[in-house]
Amino acid sequence: MRATWLEIHLDALAHNLRVIRARLQPGTGIIAVIKADAYGHGAVPIAHELARLGVERFAVATVEEGARLRQARIQHPVHLLGSLHPEEAAPALEHALIPTLSTLEAARAVAAHRPGATVHVKADSGMGRVGVPLEALRRFVEEVEAMGLEVEGVFTHFASADEDPAATRRQLEAFLAVTAPWRGRYKLHAANSAALLRFPEAHLDFVRPGIALYGLPPGEGFAREGLWPILAWKAHPTLVKRVQPGQRIGYGGTYTAQREEWIATLPLGYADGFSRALSNRGWVRLGSTYCPVVGRVSMDQITVRLPGPVGLDAVFEVITPDLDARTSLTGRAAQLGTIPYELATLLSPRLPRVYLHAAPPTQA
Ligand SMILES: *Cc1c(COP(=O)(O)O)cnc(C)c1O
Repeated sequence: MRATWLEIHLDALAHNLRVIRARLQPGTGIIAVIKADAYGHGAVPIAHELARLGVERFAVATVEEGARLRQARIQHPVHLLGSLHPEEAAPALEHALIPTLSTLEAARAVAAHRPGATVHVKADSGMGRVGVPLEALRRFVEEVEAMGLEVEGVFTHFASADEDPAATRRQLEAFLAVTAPWRGRYKLHAANSAALLRFPEAHLDFVRPGIALYGLPPGEGFAREGLWPILAWKAHPTLVKRVQPGQRIGYGGTYTAQREEWIATLPLGYADGFSRALSNRGWVRLGSTYCPVVGRVSMDQITVRLPGPVGLDAVFEVITPDLDARTSLTGRAAQLGTIPYELATLLSPRLPRVYLHAAPPTQA
C-alpha cells in the first residue's frame, strides 16, 4: 500500500448515528446523505455500514454516484438530490433512483420514460437555488400527479440552519404552511445536519444528515454535539534528513533552514487534497508534537520540520480525528478560510482508504 492512507473508523460512524437517532422521535426516518463519495469517506463502505446499522435510505447528488451504489448491491431507496435534468431521467430510473423534481420538463421526461415512477418534489422555501416556489407548489404537485407519477414526498432545504435560527424558522413555517394538509399523505422532509441538531420541529418524516454522520460540525458552535470525526489521514516519511543552515527546500526555494534541522518528506501533496495554500503554514502531528510544513506543498510530496530524527516507520498524522486547530479537518478549514465540507470532499480518490472497526480514537 501507499505510505499515506486514510483511516475511517466505522465505530465512530455508528456512534454518530446513535447521537443522531437519540434526537429523533420514533417514526422519523433517516436519509443518509452520501453524495461526493460520502464527503470523501468512501460511499460504498459507508453505505454498507449504515445499511447494516438499519439506515433506511440514502441520497446522492449524481446519477453516477447512485449507479455505483447499485453496482455495490445497495438495494435501499436512493434519492437523487438537486433538480433532475430531463436528460438524466432515463439513467436515473434505470438505476432505480428517486428523482427530485422542480421543473415540469423534468417531470415530463420521467413520465415519458416510466409512467408511475416514484418521485419527490423539491420546494423552494427560501434557499433560492432549486425547487418549486411555495406559491406554485400545490399546482405543481397536481400537475405531476396528473402525468401519472407517484409523488411520494415533498421536501425543502435550509439556507442557514447552522447560523440563522430566525431565517430557518421562517423557511420551516412557510414550508409547513403549504404542506401541513399533506401530513400523512406525502413524506415531508427538510432537515440537514444543522437543522436536525438545532430544530426538532423540522424533523418531520425524514431527516437528511450528511456532515454529522462523518462527525464534522456543520458550522460554528457545533463542537459540543458529541459527534466524533471518523476520519484520520496518516503517512510514513519516505525520507528523513538533516539539513545545514542555508539549505533551501522545495519549489521556489521558499524555505531556508536557519540552523541544522531535521526534515521529513511525506508522500502526499495537493493532488491528494493537501492544499497548496498550506505551504509554509500547515502542520502535521507526530505523537503530541506539531511539525510545521516547510517549503511549498508539491503535487505529490510535502516537507515538514521535525524536532529530531525518526525512522521511516514513523507515523505522521496529516489529519487528526478531532477538532485540533492545526491538524483536524475542521481546524484546517478555518485556517484556510473554508469549511470542513470542502476539505473532506477534496480528499483524492487516489488515497487508500482503510476501514476500521477499532475503538474510536480519543477525542480532543
Ligand atoms: C447535502 C445535502 C444535505 C446534507 O447536508 P449536511 O449539512 O451535510 O447535513 C441535506 N439535504 C440536501 C438537499 C443536500 O443537498
